[in-house]
Amino acid sequence: MCGDLFSMSDLTDMGCCGCFGFFRKPRRSLVSFGDPSAPFSRDFLLPEGTEDADSSFYGGDNPSLPHENDNGSRRSVKRSEEILLARAQNGLICREVPVKETQKRTVSEDENGNKMINEYVRLYKIGSGSYGKVVLYQSVKDGKQYAIKVFHKPYLLKLRVGPSETAMTDVLREVSIMKMLDHPNIVNLVEVIDDPSADNFYMVLEYVEGKWVCEGSGPTGGLGENTSRRYLRDIVAGLMYLHSHNIIHGDIKPDNLLVTSSGMVKIGDFSVSQVFEDDNDVLRRSPGTPVFTAPECCLGLTYHGRAADTWALGVTLHCMVLGQYPFLGDTLHDTYDKIVKKPLLIPDDVTPQLKDLLEGLLCKDPQNRITLQAVAKHPWVIGEEGPIPEYVCRCRRNSLHE
Ligand code: ADP
Ligand code: MG
Repeated sequence: MCGDLFSMSDLTDMGCCGCFGFFRKPRRSLVSFGDPSAPFSRDFLLPEGTEDADSSFYGGDNPSLPHENDNGSRRSVKRSEEILLARAQNGLICREVPVKETQKRTVSEDENGNKMINEYVRLYKIGSGSYGKVVLYQSVKDGKQYAIKVFHKPYLLKLRVGPSETAMTDVLREVSIMKMLDHPNIVNLVEVIDDPSADNFYMVLEYVEGKWVCEGSGPTGGLGENTSRRYLRDIVAGLMYLHSHNIIHGDIKPDNLLVTSSGMVKIGDFSVSQVFEDDNDVLRRSPGTPVFTAPECCLGLTYHGRAADTWALGVTLHCMVLGQYPFLGDTLHDTYDKIVKKPLLIPDDVTPQLKDLLEGLLCKDPQNRITLQAVAKHPWVIGEEGPIPEYVCRCRRNSLHE
């Protein structure tokens, strides 16, 4: 079983302040498609029926659990880019200002010797991505800081992540999904720099300076109920917007949730996101982070992307309020085993409303799991602020006026 391939130190990664341990996404560079030792390569997120070779999944105690698509149908799946293009052609675009597309990259230095890419002055590296790095830059045009995700195209093009896909496909899908989005709780993609004569590809993102501030605030070592509620409301607002546009995030976890200086949470990292043509969000193979994986995904069954995102939201809320994961084992297999079988235990000092919400989100049966619409009206979420208001985006507004 794949869990045996990892030691605990390989599997865990620390979040901010060392409060949250995370399983690390694999360095996909070391992984070739179909390698059974590569349980998290992006071929794990293939829409139902798409060809894939590997089946190294947790199968519980039942060896007959289906790892492959039982009906054997290999229906072709419209690629994300085509879906997005079709939407754009139908005027379903949320953005007032489109993402700037720049085909010329100029490398230079400012008067202090700092490296520059076009109008952006390099400050310092702020993150490592699975395919590239994230660097803080400052624009000499508007003086604002930007987080730029930098990718090396020859490397991405060599890295296979599916039968006919390279890592470049993943990055282009991330870009095309982000090009659609316009919501206060979603990190904004400002510009894409792709010079055909340059090796690097750049995603210029709004810079969101913070991550979780979680230094021992709450009674149980988490963020405390009030901060957790505020954060959760923002995440739910962003996630409802995504789901209503048939987009599944696929990797909701604190590491991908950035906090602005005013305490607003923005969802980032659309690197494993998927877009659907309609409400049907059936997927198989979850590429997300193991401790945030829903039980139905651990079993290698087909699953509904929205419900899986909702489970990951539950794990995130659990981390926020209790400072620990609900289900964590010593190995990957052990973690999956706990996610699938271990009953959820909430400490007695958690308020009944919060307990009810955690139980709803971390309901093992996706059919009975609470929906985001219900979360938005849940008494704990309402608190003193009221239900999370519905966000009417530009594409919805336009379609309402037709
Ligand atoms: P990956 O797909 O490799 O996880 P992410 O988009 O999550 O890539 O970026 C990696 C890290 O870089 C994030 O966890 C975060 O620390 C930092 N980061 C990414 N985008 C931003 C941003 N817009 N503002 C600030 N930091 C960012
Ligand atoms: Mg990330």
